[in-house]
Amino acid sequence: MLYLDNCATTQVHPEVKDAMLPYLMEEFGNPSSKYYSFAENAKNAVIEARNHLASLLGCTSSEIIFTSGSTESNNMIIKGVADYFSNQGNHIITTKVEHPSVLETCKYLETKGFEVTYLDVDRFGRINIKDLENAIKDHTILVSIIWGNNELGSLNDMEAISNLCVKENVFLHSDATQVIGKVKVDLSNFPGLTFLSFSGHKFHGPKGIGGSFIRKDQYDILTKITPLLHGGGQEQGVRSGTLAVHNIVGFGKAAEIALDNLNQNIEHLSELESYLTDLLKEKFNEHIIFNNDIINKIPGLINVQFKGVNNEILLKKLAPLIAASTGSACSSSKPSHVLSAIGLTLDQVRSTIRFSMSSYINKVELDIFKKL
Ligand code: PMP
Repeated sequence: MLYLDNCATTQVHPEVKDAMLPYLMEEFGNPSSKYYSFAENAKNAVIEARNHLASLLGCTSSEIIFTSGSTESNNMIIKGVADYFSNQGNHIITTKVEHPSVLETCKYLETKGFEVTYLDVDRFGRINIKDLENAIKDHTILVSIIWGNNELGSLNDMEAISNLCVKENVFLHSDATQVIGKVKVDLSNFPGLTFLSFSGHKFHGPKGIGGSFIRKDQYDILTKITPLLHGGGQEQGVRSGTLAVHNIVGFGKAAEIALDNLNQNIEHLSELESYLTDLLKEKFNEHIIFNNDIINKIPGLINVQFKGVNNEILLKKLAPLIAASTGSACSSSKPSHVLSAIGLTLDQVRSTIRFSMSSYINKVELDIFKKL
């Protein structure tokens, strides 16, 4: 069975598993405990993992906050900023193509009196920088724009967005869940980006672990945002709860491997994408339409309409051989809001399939499409 749903989740790298196991068994200490070696060893492992994440992202390790994943990071940042800054403004800007963990958080905040602008996107799901500029008001407290779209792979121009947010003096958050480990991200190049969300299981780390980047800047924002989880004050007081050391160690290992292999992986994923695109064109020619762009995107992701074919039926037919999806696993029961936002009709949305690859597969495995 060929697994082509790597935007939903990925297989843990064998070295990630090996790195994690000791922290479930002999090194099971709580890193917040004191004086004995179980605690020291766990604490040091967390420090090392945090350093790997910081190297991957181009930030300092004290700017990394461990969470349970991007859903929590998105909630923590958006609600945390909204709550703390509610006396200075109540306006948030986001896009129509965010993940539900951003959209539903914004909808919740609307019920609490916040005003949210949902920006339109172009036919590949990217925002127009002029639209963002026009949407920023005196009472805007946060802009939250997805970096790389989970259904289409399109990358937003984060440099332009970051520069605009510096000019307008407004906080910027980005959901970078799908780009980390697949696109070069050096946060030192994005001074306007104050917050980032990411998840370990999207780049061969374990599930249930992720993080937020919170920039240490003149605003000292980390100490200001209202925590989602109050408690023992772990993670600099912004995210309480005993650290999941085994998961953090696995996450750190995945970050180390991702950084060491980034260029090769990008090249490999791009080759796989071109190869599969050509195979699909050859096999299905006028019966398919590609929804994704071919440039400025996450490599290894194809989003394609099979004209007149119901995607659920097609996925079931493919399932003995190929695992793919209609789009986001998190909202698979509803027609995609992302594809609707780029202007597809309901019929077109219902005939679309996403194939997302990983660096673990090769072209020969993709040849299975020739046999369909
Ligand atoms: N944002 C994006 C863009 C995603 O693709 C996902 C996962 N599908 C999430 C957020 C949520 O991540 P998690 O389920 O790991 O919390």
